[in-house]
Amino acid sequence: MAKTKYIFVTGGVTSSLGKGIVSASLAKLLQERGYKVTIQKLDPYINIDPGTLNPYEHGECFVTDDGAETDLDLGHYERFLNIRTSQNNNVTTGRIYQTVIEKERKGEYLGKTVQVIPHITDEIKRRIQILGNNNEYDIIITEIGGTIGDIESLPYVEAVRQLNWELGDGSMAIIHLTLVPYLAAAGELKTKPTQHSVKMLMESGVQPDILVCRTDRHLTKEVRKKIALFTNVRPENVIESIDAETIYDVPLLMLQEELDKAVLKKLNLPIGNEPKMDAWIDFLNKFKNPKDTIKIALVGKYVELHDAYKSIHESLIHGATYNHLKLELDWVHSEKLSDDEIIEHIKKSDGVIIAPGFGSRGVEGKITALKYARENKIPLFGICFGMQLAAIEFARNVLGLKGANSTELNPHTKIPVISLLEDQKLNLLGGTMRLGNQTCRLEKDSHTYKIYKNDTINERHRHRYEFNSNFEKKFEKNGMKIAGRDIKTNLVEILEYEDHPWFITTQFHPEYKSTVLNPHPLFVNFIKTAYQLKNNK
Ligand code: GLN
Repeated sequence: MAKTKYIFVTGGVTSSLGKGIVSASLAKLLQERGYKVTIQKLDPYINIDPGTLNPYEHGECFVTDDGAETDLDLGHYERFLNIRTSQNNNVTTGRIYQTVIEKERKGEYLGKTVQVIPHITDEIKRRIQILGNNNEYDIIITEIGGTIGDIESLPYVEAVRQLNWELGDGSMAIIHLTLVPYLAAAGELKTKPTQHSVKMLMESGVQPDILVCRTDRHLTKEVRKKIALFTNVRPENVIESIDAETIYDVPLLMLQEELDKAVLKKLNLPIGNEPKMDAWIDFLNKFKNPKDTIKIALVGKYVELHDAYKSIHESLIHGATYNHLKLELDWVHSEKLSDDEIIEHIKKSDGVIIAPGFGSRGVEGKITALKYARENKIPLFGICFGMQLAAIEFARNVLGLKGANSTELNPHTKIPVISLLEDQKLNLLGGTMRLGNQTCRLEKDSHTYKIYKNDTINERHRHRYEFNSNFEKKFEKNGMKIAGRDIKTNLVEILEYEDHPWFITTQFHPEYKSTVLNPHPLFVNFIKTAYQLKNNK
């Protein structure tokens, strides 16, 4: 098999130009041309991973099958490409330094002075090439986080320069994403920021092969020529990336602009067949031509930053789209709103999602939402913390156990319906999270089984606390069904309230597995039922 080839995507001028979406779109086109592709994100911050970051910093933490806590861009990669990523697909500066420092402590550098060049850059290059080592992929796309000119990004740019020199012609392509702003006062698109950004990249010894120019209006031939002239890039490799109505338009826009062809040419690879985008276009048509709307309330404490619930939002879009509906998402703040306000939001919704979360802020608001939706038979989908709080609400209001709680929220509670397992208590500092893919067996007579049409499912986890098995009998006797258990440990994975049209809460995170071409059955069914009930009202 031919050697793996590499594509690097850097960003210039400003952040938030959509590097992740452009990378995922390019990967999608190459995949549909028959290449085996994966994407990696290099993040220039010093945290080892985003697991400990407040969602307000970088949005949600995406969890992979192997339990890596990663950047939310990996979610875009999986949703666009229908592939699975892993720890190797997301590397931070913290992890690079950790590896180098551990090696230094073990004496592996044989007394040498350990420096950014070559030791840190060597480790960066090693991490980039790990994915290519077993020849599983034809092409690896590496997205470099941050903006050219940031001090933090320098070692990464240097690593790209070195790799370009080491691997030689035809082995890699460098894409630079920039902004071409329109200046109303001048009535013109301005190329100067792009010129400067490329100049900065070239000062580091990196000449981009392709420019992807984010713009709110079409680039004329003249503008493209001007950019090409000043940046040493071929005019046909100046690609326009115009603001799109939805991120799902971007692969098709990149196809029109022939970004995939430009890359393949640079990599000396055959252009192959036209990408088969039929299923994608079909999804997009449904998305753009909905028959009706569906209103879902998402109850969480980070709702001001929509990226904090990215995967749930996208999964709901998938679910709505496959039901030919337009999603109207009502972001309900569980901490700032009063109980009455929360209930007002829920009354106006066709279904309710109780979001995952950590810590006690906003918990009572979520419990109010749970109680109202349960008692008023409004479709309710609880995810992770959402399941734990459903258990607490049920214990308090149905079983009459007023002090029921999670030991996360009240370590001294007398009625710990949610708690740590005995062996977790010994090891409180780190390492106690249940992370990644695990197998769950569903009860054949459960609602969830009917939806999955399968008795064993694999879903991803990210939590520390568990449903306390001492309460199982009491719950089941009073109408809260344990619909699924972990196949190895027997831990409770799903609670369903039986006297209700749709009340499913899961300890796992189904939202990490929904993709454009493979929407998650729980989300599709949740929306479908919510819509049916809306029409029966
Ligand atoms: N805080 C809960 C736990 O640690 C739930 C976590 C989550 O919702 N992801 O178990």
